[in-house]
Amino acid sequence: MTLAPSAPDVRTSGTFTITDPRDGSVVGEVVEADRDDVARAVRRARAALDGWSRTDAAARGELLHAAADALRARAPELAELNERETGKPYDDSLGGVMAGAGTLRQYAELGPVHRGHSLVGGRYAGDYTVSQPRGVVAAVTPWNDPVAVACGLLGAALATGNVVVHKPSERSPHVGALLGEVLSSVLPDDVLVTLSGGGAVGAALTEHPDVDVVAHVGSTSTGRKIARVAALTGAHVVRENGGNDALVVDADVDPVWAAGQAALGSFANAGQICTSVERVFVHRAIAPAFVEALAAEATARNEQRLIGPLVDERLREEVHAQVASALEDGATALVGGAVPDGPGSWYPATVLVDVRPGMTIVQEETFGPVAPVQVVDSFEEGLRLAGADRYGLAATVLTASIEHANKAAADLDVGTVKINAVFGGAPGGAAQPRRDSGAGFGYGPELLDEMTLVKVVHVGLPTTSASSGLPEARLAPGGTDTVTTSAADAGPLASAVGDGSSSDGDLDDLGDGRTPHPEEPAEGGDEDDEGTTSGDDVPRVHPSDPAEG
Ligand code: NAD
Repeated sequence: MTLAPSAPDVRTSGTFTITDPRDGSVVGEVVEADRDDVARAVRRARAALDGWSRTDAAARGELLHAAADALRARAPELAELNERETGKPYDDSLGGVMAGAGTLRQYAELGPVHRGHSLVGGRYAGDYTVSQPRGVVAAVTPWNDPVAVACGLLGAALATGNVVVHKPSERSPHVGALLGEVLSSVLPDDVLVTLSGGGAVGAALTEHPDVDVVAHVGSTSTGRKIARVAALTGAHVVRENGGNDALVVDADVDPVWAAGQAALGSFANAGQICTSVERVFVHRAIAPAFVEALAAEATARNEQRLIGPLVDERLREEVHAQVASALEDGATALVGGAVPDGPGSWYPATVLVDVRPGMTIVQEETFGPVAPVQVVDSFEEGLRLAGADRYGLAATVLTASIEHANKAAADLDVGTVKINAVFGGAPGGAAQPRRDSGAGFGYGPELLDEMTLVKVVHVGLPTTSASSGLPEARLAPGGTDTVTTSAADAGPLASAVGDGSSSDGDLDDLGDGRTPHPEEPAEGGDEDDEGTTSGDDVPRVHPSDPAEG
């Protein structure tokens, strides 16, 4: 299959080949975008912004529901393609597509009820906030759950009136292109533009000066590059990056159940999940039974081929290099630990013991089915070692002790703490990853806030003949000022301007219930004049306020 980029007029810079990680057979050739294509994509999206951002939020929500329907209708096709392209088994792939459709529905409903606040201002003033779309969102996504992850970013961005240029992973470009085609079939033209290509295309997109938001889900090293670039372009950045999640197993839990949790956490999706269990700390009291049961879980998965391959040969080499390094440094592979013969990029479920804190496999994210086990003498030691990490995505503790559970929740410096379940959680749950795991909310209702800018609106009363009848109305020239019911209500500055004298009163109170902008200059004087007023009966307003001229 050859994919053309989504614009018919787009020029291309080359092609690359995708092979099926199960057997190495060719899935298709992919045409890669070049810098001009990227610029064109951003221009097209920008041109669609005005119409989309002015569309009623409810109407945008309806279109996102239609997009979810379209996605569900093509779910088997997308799942089959995803299995061929990334090796993610069909049922898991289908689950990811359906989760993506569910996320679109969630944002379809949340978009119209994304609300602001009213503020406490002057008695007759109206002060409130409105959320406005930021503009062009560059969504740069990975391959490990390509539809579910992309739908989160796209859904939140589109629901809030932004337009999106999506750059799916070069490891799942066919799925990315088909996703774009399916969603675009029900959306207005160019509200969503999909670009094909690798890191260079992602870099060209995120460097583009007309991009307002970069939402990246992917590795920490890429996330860092994006953060550096965005510091120069000024784009708002949301980064959901790598994890090195710990599992701490207490002395008082069933070791066989705990091993089942560890196996699920380490081996699901062949360990290619950001919140996979990457480091296991088990209490010495139950370590022998736990390790034996974990080894049995891994063996069963390997013998029955219950896990899929790694996405490609490159990832398999990276994973195996970490395992080989641990073995060289004294770890023991109870199960797995060797690259199998034959086609495809399969890697066995692997259980490592005799693992020490300084090993690379402990310090770095391992995006493969590996469970490195360390034995600890206390729950507290497990917590301490779990916390000694540069990543801060999530962590799990298995314990029957409420005290230990509370301690873990309080002390683990990660975005999500899971107690007695390696996966799961309420729909819409979202946390900010910490340290090297990223920044901002990449999920949940909070992602709507990331995609929008908050504006404060202050509504005063115009100068009309009717308004002069209001009690003690104090109206500013230009008709933008507030009304105060009395000088006492309005605060010391209002008293000062009322009689035209200087005041020792609290200058933080502008008399209209508004806190001054930190850069707001003292009115009618130079810096030495602090504390004086011009005495022209005009309470101060923000310097950029048009009424100030
Ligand atoms: P990656 O960062 O290599 O690639 C992700 C996307 O970034 C791709 O589209 C890629 O082309 C693009 N990209 C690469 N270099 C770029 C650059 N210099 N500028 C702009 N874009 C660039 O990540 P990956 O290997 O595809 O995905 C696996 C990683 O993603 C793992 O570390 C995993 O933990 C992480 N991940 C995190 C979450 C989360 O929610 N925290 C979810 C899924 C995956």
